[in-house]
Amino acid sequence: MKGLFALLPMAFLLVSCATAAPAPCPQPTVTAPAAVAHQPLDRYERRIITAGAPAEVMALVENDTPSDDAFLREKALTVDPAEPIIGHLAARMLETVKKAPGVGIAAPQVGISRRLIWVQRMDKEEKPFEFYINPRIDEFSPEKEIGWEGCLSVPAGFGKCYRSTSITLSHDTTDNGRVSEKISGFTAVIFQHEIDHLDGVLFIDLKEQGDLMPKEAYYEMRRKEKEAKEKEQAAPAATPENK
Ligand SMILES: [Zn+2]
Repeated sequence: MKGLFALLPMAFLLVSCATAAPAPCPQPTVTAPAAVAHQPLDRYERRIITAGAPAEVMALVENDTPSDDAFLREKALTVDPAEPIIGHLAARMLETVKKAPGVGIAAPQVGISRRLIWVQRMDKEEKPFEFYINPRIDEFSPEKEIGWEGCLSVPAGFGKCYRSTSITLSHDTTDNGRVSEKISGFTAVIFQHEIDHLDGVLFIDLKEQGDLMPKEAYYEMRRKEKEAKEKEQAAPAATPENK
């Protein structure tokens, strides 16, 4: 997962505009971005990106070797939103996160230390993956909740982290704009996890307690939870006759 391999949605974290009360979803606001000089992608970065077709997955960088761990700890550079090769990289990153499967991925996880992420918008009806250029969290809610997290770049397992329940996100657009949006629930957790990657931070730096749970044990726990829930839902409703 590097990435966010397995940020599995916790029911209590899920917030959906479709199911939440009558208030309409907040609309993104668009402003002109500050003038920033972006460092062009170098030859090495271009070679990694174009080593495969847009439909080809990329190799994941995992934290289980010292050199890959050091790479994941770098602060990623911004990128010019008009840079044409971004489309090729975005396509390959999307193939990679879908195959993993994960709910988000950051460019450093595929060997490109640039501020680019895909996030699955669990707060939108079709749960689409969306791509963000130079994303930044401008505000974190003081309210936090704890939940399980895993990562495509951390093969050792899953752990619990506290994350803000809502954030204000801003990011560049390809037509030279900057969009700001308030995001809540599990999707806000995914953004926090992915944007941490751009600053060299992994969820294991934040995890609250104990050792990581190995992936197999985690999946088994989730499977049992799901089974128990299905059993509960299938049970006949209590009536005077069957009480
Ligand atoms: Zn991750």
